[in-house]
Amino acid sequence: MECSKPRKIVVAIDGYSSCGKSTFAKTIARSLGYIFIDTGAMYRAVTLYAFEHGAIRSGIVDEEAVVGLLDEIQIAFRFNPERGASDIYVNGERVEGRIRTIEVSNCVSRVSSIREVRQKLVRMQQELGRSRGVVMDGRDIGTVVFPDAELKIFMTADPQVRARRRYDELRAKGDDVSLEEVLENVRSRDAADSGRAISPLRQAEDALVLDNSCMSVEEQMAWFMERYREAACSDK
Ligand code: C5P
Repeated sequence: MECSKPRKIVVAIDGYSSCGKSTFAKTIARSLGYIFIDTGAMYRAVTLYAFEHGAIRSGIVDEEAVVGLLDEIQIAFRFNPERGASDIYVNGERVEGRIRTIEVSNCVSRVSSIREVRQKLVRMQQELGRSRGVVMDGRDIGTVVFPDAELKIFMTADPQVRARRRYDELRAKGDDVSLEEVLENVRSRDAADSGRAISPLRQAEDALVLDNSCMSVEEQMAWFMERYREAACSDK
Protein backbone atom coordinates (compact mmCIF):
# COMPACT_ATOMS: atom_id res chain seq x y z
CA MET A 1 0.00 0.00 0.00
CA GLU A 2 1.41 3.45 -0.92
CA CYS A 3 0.22 6.84 0.28
CA SER A 4 1.71 10.25 -0.36
CA LYS A 5 1.54 11.52 3.20
CA PRO A 6 1.95 8.88 5.90
CA ARG A 7 1.05 10.19 9.36
CA LYS A 8 3.50 10.05 12.26
CA ILE A 9 2.76 7.11 14.48
CA VAL A 10 4.02 5.31 17.59
CA VAL A 11 5.74 1.99 16.88
CA ALA A 12 5.71 -0.15 20.04
CA ILE A 13 8.14 -3.07 20.11
CA ASP A 14 7.93 -5.50 23.01
CA GLY A 15 9.41 -8.91 23.56
CA TYR A 16 11.84 -11.15 25.33
CA SER A 17 15.41 -10.29 26.35
CA SER A 18 18.10 -10.26 23.69
CA CYS A 19 15.73 -10.67 20.75
CA GLY A 20 17.45 -7.90 18.84
CA LYS A 21 14.64 -5.44 19.66
CA SER A 22 16.98 -2.48 19.97
CA THR A 23 18.84 -3.16 16.72
CA PHE A 24 15.52 -3.58 14.92
CA ALA A 25 14.01 -0.48 16.53
CA LYS A 26 17.11 1.61 15.82
CA THR A 27 17.10 0.59 12.15
CA ILE A 28 13.41 1.44 11.83
CA ALA A 29 13.85 4.82 13.50
CA ARG A 30 16.74 5.69 11.21
CA SER A 31 14.87 4.78 8.05
CA LEU A 32 11.70 6.64 9.08
CA GLY A 33 13.45 9.65 10.65
CA TYR A 34 11.78 8.79 13.97
CA ILE A 35 13.12 9.08 17.52
CA PHE A 36 14.24 5.78 19.05
CA ILE A 37 13.78 5.20 22.77
CA ASP A 38 15.38 2.13 24.36
CA THR A 39 13.32 1.81 27.56
CA GLY A 40 15.42 -1.15 28.76
CA ALA A 41 18.36 1.28 28.92
CA MET A 42 16.33 3.42 31.33
CA TYR A 43 15.72 0.48 33.72
CA ARG A 44 19.39 -0.44 33.37
CA ALA A 45 20.46 3.13 34.16
CA VAL A 46 18.42 3.11 37.39
CA THR A 47 19.97 -0.28 38.26
CA LEU A 48 23.50 1.00 37.64
CA TYR A 49 22.82 4.06 39.79
CA ALA A 50 21.48 1.81 42.56
CA PHE A 51 24.67 -0.27 42.37
CA GLU A 52 26.86 2.80 42.60
CA HIS A 53 24.92 4.31 45.49
CA GLY A 54 24.75 1.33 47.81
CA ALA A 55 21.17 0.22 47.10
CA ILE A 56 22.40 -3.08 45.61
CA ARG A 57 25.02 -5.02 47.56
CA SER A 58 26.29 -8.51 46.75
CA GLY A 59 23.53 -8.81 44.17
CA ILE A 60 20.77 -8.08 46.75
CA VAL A 61 18.43 -5.24 45.80
CA ASP A 62 17.28 -3.06 48.72
CA GLU A 63 13.91 -1.93 47.39
CA GLU A 64 13.40 0.90 49.88
CA ALA A 65 16.86 2.27 49.18
CA VAL A 66 16.21 2.20 45.41
CA VAL A 67 12.93 4.10 45.88
CA GLY A 68 14.80 6.59 48.08
CA LEU A 69 17.22 7.35 45.25
CA LEU A 70 14.60 7.90 42.54
CA ASP A 71 14.14 11.64 43.03
CA GLU A 72 17.82 12.30 42.46
CA ILE A 73 18.01 10.34 39.20
CA GLN A 74 17.69 12.46 36.05
CA ILE A 75 17.74 10.46 32.83
CA ALA A 76 18.33 11.99 29.41
CA PHE A 77 19.07 10.79 25.88
CA ARG A 78 21.47 12.65 23.60
CA PHE A 79 22.10 11.83 19.98
CA ASN A 80 25.60 10.51 19.30
CA PRO A 81 26.44 11.02 15.61
CA GLU A 82 29.32 8.52 15.85
CA ARG A 83 26.93 5.70 16.75
CA GLY A 84 24.02 7.09 14.79
CA ALA A 85 21.88 6.58 17.92
CA SER A 86 21.16 8.23 21.25
CA ASP A 87 23.32 7.62 24.31
CA ILE A 88 21.79 7.51 27.76
CA TYR A 89 22.91 9.92 30.49
CA VAL A 90 22.28 9.87 34.22
CA ASN A 91 22.62 13.24 35.95
CA GLY A 92 24.64 14.53 33.01
CA GLU A 93 27.02 11.56 32.89
CA ARG A 94 27.11 9.25 29.89
CA VAL A 95 26.53 5.71 31.14
CA GLU A 96 25.85 3.95 27.83
CA GLY A 97 28.93 1.72 28.10
CA ARG A 98 28.30 0.65 31.71
CA ILE A 99 24.66 -0.40 31.71
CA ARG A 100 25.01 -3.62 29.72
CA THR A 101 27.33 -5.64 31.97
CA ILE A 102 26.24 -9.04 33.28
CA GLU A 103 26.07 -7.58 36.85
CA VAL A 104 23.49 -5.00 35.78
CA SER A 105 21.65 -7.62 33.68
CA ASN A 106 21.40 -9.90 36.71
CA CYS A 107 19.66 -7.26 38.87
CA VAL A 108 17.68 -5.20 36.38
CA SER A 109 14.54 -7.38 36.40
CA ARG A 110 14.37 -7.08 40.19
CA VAL A 111 14.72 -3.28 40.01
CA SER A 112 12.20 -3.02 37.18
CA SER A 113 9.60 -4.88 39.26
CA ILE A 114 9.48 -2.01 41.80
CA ARG A 115 6.24 -0.04 41.38
CA GLU A 116 7.75 3.41 41.99
CA VAL A 117 10.53 2.76 39.47
CA ARG A 118 7.98 1.81 36.81
CA GLN A 119 5.77 4.81 37.59
CA LYS A 120 8.65 7.24 37.13
CA LEU A 121 9.97 5.68 33.93
CA VAL A 122 6.58 5.09 32.30
CA ARG A 123 5.67 8.78 32.83
CA MET A 124 8.93 9.81 31.23
CA GLN A 125 8.40 7.45 28.28
CA GLN A 126 4.90 8.80 27.68
CA GLU A 127 6.29 12.33 27.66
CA LEU A 128 9.07 11.37 25.20
CA GLY A 129 6.52 9.91 22.76
CA ARG A 130 3.87 12.60 23.15
CA SER A 131 4.36 14.04 19.65
CA ARG A 132 4.37 10.56 18.02
CA GLY A 133 7.08 9.81 15.41
CA VAL A 134 8.73 7.47 17.89
CA VAL A 135 9.90 3.86 18.00
CA MET A 136 10.01 2.54 21.55
CA ASP A 137 11.21 -0.86 22.62
CA GLY A 138 10.67 -2.62 25.92
CA ARG A 139 8.33 -5.03 27.70
CA ASP A 140 5.15 -3.04 28.31
CA ILE A 141 5.10 -0.43 25.56
CA GLY A 142 2.07 -1.81 23.69
CA THR A 143 0.22 -2.77 26.87
CA VAL A 144 0.91 0.06 29.35
CA VAL A 145 3.02 2.94 28.01
CA PHE A 146 1.24 3.36 24.66
CA PRO A 147 -1.81 1.08 24.58
CA ASP A 148 -3.01 3.29 21.70
CA ALA A 149 0.14 2.77 19.58
CA GLU A 150 -0.77 2.52 15.90
CA LEU A 151 1.66 -0.36 15.32
CA LYS A 152 2.57 -2.96 17.93
CA ILE A 153 5.12 -5.68 17.39
CA PHE A 154 5.85 -8.54 19.76
CA MET A 155 9.31 -10.01 19.14
CA THR A 156 10.46 -13.44 20.10
CA ALA A 157 13.24 -15.89 19.23
CA ASP A 158 14.58 -19.18 20.49
CA PRO A 159 16.37 -18.71 23.90
CA GLN A 160 19.52 -20.46 22.62
CA VAL A 161 19.70 -18.11 19.63
CA ARG A 162 19.15 -15.09 21.89
CA ALA A 163 21.81 -16.18 24.38
CA ARG A 164 24.32 -16.73 21.60
CA ARG A 165 23.68 -13.24 20.19
CA ARG A 166 24.10 -11.56 23.60
CA TYR A 167 27.17 -13.70 24.34
CA ASP A 168 28.86 -12.65 21.06
CA GLU A 169 28.08 -9.01 21.86
CA LEU A 170 29.53 -9.21 25.38
CA ARG A 171 32.64 -11.11 24.26
CA ALA A 172 33.23 -8.59 21.47
CA LYS A 173 33.30 -5.89 24.18
CA GLY A 174 35.85 -7.92 26.14
CA ASP A 175 33.44 -9.16 28.84
CA ASP A 176 34.63 -12.47 30.29
CA VAL A 177 31.32 -14.36 30.43
CA SER A 178 30.36 -17.93 29.55
CA LEU A 179 27.55 -18.91 27.20
CA GLU A 180 25.87 -20.83 30.07
CA GLU A 181 25.91 -17.74 32.26
CA VAL A 182 24.28 -15.66 29.52
CA LEU A 183 21.68 -18.35 28.76
CA GLU A 184 20.83 -18.56 32.45
CA ASN A 185 20.42 -14.77 32.56
CA VAL A 186 18.19 -14.79 29.46
CA ARG A 187 15.99 -17.54 30.95
CA SER A 188 15.71 -16.00 34.39
CA ARG A 189 14.89 -12.56 32.98
CA ASP A 190 12.19 -14.07 30.73
CA ALA A 191 10.65 -15.71 33.80
CA ALA A 192 10.95 -12.61 36.00
CA ASP A 193 9.67 -10.20 33.33
CA SER A 194 6.71 -12.43 32.42
CA GLY A 195 5.85 -13.35 36.01
CA ARG A 196 6.00 -10.00 37.80
CA ALA A 197 2.85 -8.52 39.31
CA ILE A 198 3.09 -5.04 37.76
CA SER A 199 3.10 -4.66 33.97
CA PRO A 200 4.33 -8.18 33.16
CA LEU A 201 5.70 -8.88 29.72
CA ARG A 202 2.83 -10.08 27.59
CA GLN A 203 1.72 -9.76 24.03
CA ALA A 204 -0.90 -7.04 23.48
CA GLU A 205 -4.01 -8.45 21.82
CA ASP A 206 -3.48 -6.30 18.75
CA ALA A 207 0.28 -6.90 18.46
CA LEU A 208 1.84 -8.61 15.45
CA VAL A 209 4.27 -11.41 16.33
CA LEU A 210 7.74 -11.40 14.80
CA ASP A 211 9.86 -14.50 15.48
CA ASN A 212 13.28 -13.55 14.19
CA SER A 213 15.17 -16.76 15.11
CA CYS A 214 16.07 -17.30 11.48
CA MET A 215 15.67 -13.82 9.99
CA SER A 216 18.29 -11.28 8.96
CA VAL A 217 17.83 -7.60 9.81
CA GLU A 218 17.04 -6.97 6.11
CA GLU A 219 14.26 -9.57 6.17
CA GLN A 220 12.86 -8.10 9.35
CA MET A 221 12.89 -4.63 7.79
CA ALA A 222 11.04 -5.83 4.68
CA TRP A 223 8.44 -7.45 6.97
CA PHE A 224 8.16 -4.24 8.99
CA MET A 225 7.88 -1.78 6.10
CA GLU A 226 4.79 -3.51 4.77
CA ARG A 227 3.07 -3.29 8.16
CA TYR A 228 4.25 0.27 8.68
CA ARG A 229 2.71 1.47 5.39
CA GLU A 230 -0.60 -0.09 6.35
CA ALA A 231 -0.56 1.52 9.80
CA ALA A 232 0.73 4.96 8.77
CA CYS A 233 -1.56 5.27 5.77
CA SER A 234 -4.74 4.09 7.44
CA ASP A 235 -7.15 6.73 8.85
CA LYS A 236 -8.13 4.63 11.84
O1 C5P B 1 15.63 -4.48 26.89
P1 C5P B 1 16.63 -4.86 27.93
O2 C5P B 1 16.94 -6.31 27.93
O3 C5P B 1 17.85 -4.00 27.93
O4 C5P B 1 15.87 -4.54 29.31
C1 C5P B 1 16.46 -4.77 30.56
C2 C5P B 1 15.41 -5.11 31.60
O5 C5P B 1 14.62 -3.95 31.88
C3 C5P B 1 14.41 -6.20 31.23
O6 C5P B 1 14.87 -7.50 31.53
C4 C5P B 1 13.20 -5.83 32.09
O7 C5P B 1 13.35 -6.34 33.40
C5 C5P B 1 13.29 -4.32 32.19
N1 C5P B 1 12.37 -3.63 31.30
C6 C5P B 1 11.06 -3.48 31.71
N2 C5P B 1 10.19 -2.75 30.96
C7 C5P B 1 10.59 -2.19 29.82
C8 C5P B 1 11.91 -2.35 29.36
C9 C5P B 1 12.78 -3.10 30.12
O8 C5P B 1 10.68 -3.99 32.75
N3 C5P B 1 9.72 -1.44 29.12
